[in-house]
Amino acid sequence: MDLVKLWMIAGSREFETSKRSLTNITKKGIEFINENVTKIDLENKIVRTSYRRLHYDYLIVALGVELAPEQIPGLKENSLVLYDLNDVPKIRDAIRRIQSGKIAIAITGLPYKCPPAPYEAALLIRSVLEETGTSNSIQMDFYSPTPITLPAGGPQVSEEILQILRSKNIEFHGNHKTVAVEQNKLKFESGETNFDLLITVPPHKVPLVTIDCGLAQPGKFIEVDRTCKTKTDNVYAIGDVNQIMVTDKIAVPKAGIFAEGEGAAVARNIISKIKKETENAIFDGKGGCYLETGKKTAGYIRVDMYADPSPVTELKSPTPDYFLEKEKFEKERLEKWL
Ligand SMILES: Cc1cc2nc3c(=O)[nH]c(=O)nc-3n(C[C@H](O)[C@H](O)[C@H](O)COP(=O)(O)OP(=O)(O)OC[C@H]3O[C@@H](n4cnc5c(N)ncnc54)[C@H](O)[C@@H]3O)c2cc1C
Repeated sequence: MDLVKLWMIAGSREFETSKRSLTNITKKGIEFINENVTKIDLENKIVRTSYRRLHYDYLIVALGVELAPEQIPGLKENSLVLYDLNDVPKIRDAIRRIQSGKIAIAITGLPYKCPPAPYEAALLIRSVLEETGTSNSIQMDFYSPTPITLPAGGPQVSEEILQILRSKNIEFHGNHKTVAVEQNKLKFESGETNFDLLITVPPHKVPLVTIDCGLAQPGKFIEVDRTCKTKTDNVYAIGDVNQIMVTDKIAVPKAGIFAEGEGAAVARNIISKIKKETENAIFDGKGGCYLETGKKTAGYIRVDMYADPSPVTELKSPTPDYFLEKEKFEKERLEKWL
């Protein structure tokens, strides 16, 4: 669903026609309980929802992350939040209305979901401005706390993304840690800048229920290794809610493709456990994602987090074919899972 937000900004999709009901997973013999999880009781192996208590033998925590705009004073009041579904139509309206001035895009917390997504958003916004004929009178600036565009992708991929941004007249400003936002003013640890329209990626946090039960520490994610096992027996954490360190500096990026790979490894191990076989499945760290560059073109970032001797990431140059593959990627997932 998240990737549709970018297509909503580009104007090629609407939310209502993109959503699918999760009740379809019942076709696979999985009961779907659409209730808020209020407590995880690890000692008694019980998950409480607003209305019931569910006993488990195995628990897979896949609660994702929550957006935490409140961690940056003034962010919610003075910017539109790229990852917030309510703000996405407002971003589309604002970029179609603006005639001149400066659009700033800021990553304000680390780590965040889908590291390339804010760059895709910037490039898609530039495309919309080109369509509306205002592009030449609008400056676009991108601010990130990281020194390079995509640290998880390494210096080479980061440089290639920088060049793609430059080719679209989008200026990247690394090492800019946002500390506050005021009306038309973005404040960094050192320095500040003005803007006419600000689009932000806010800090992320784990759902409180994972902290209350002790699986996550405040300000952190659930730390697991490639087995996705937590420190509690038969309890696993997959997807955005977890943190898997690959080296002492690089963690597995928060992306749907990796959540899927982690889920597959955990499923295999639970099946092995039930069959009393050896559990030897581990998350393979392989995946990739499409970097949309506007006008129905995309590049492809191939990732092998556990390549020997160090993680490998490469960016395949943008083509219309990769854009078609991205659409196919979504279609296949929807058909397979829902
Ligand atoms: C703009 C954008 C574009 C993206 N594009 C891509 C892409 O092209 N490729 C890619 O691989 N990834 C992409 N991602 C990242 C991807 O969307 C996430 O990494 C992925 O959804 C993570 O899956 P998850 O299951 O861990 O979490 P989620 O998909 O967030 O699912 C967690 C679920 O748990 C629910 N939940 C939370 N707390 C509770 C509670 N207490 N009780 C009950 N339910 C609860 C949430 O409501 C949510 O439905 C993109 C993200 C964004 C924001």
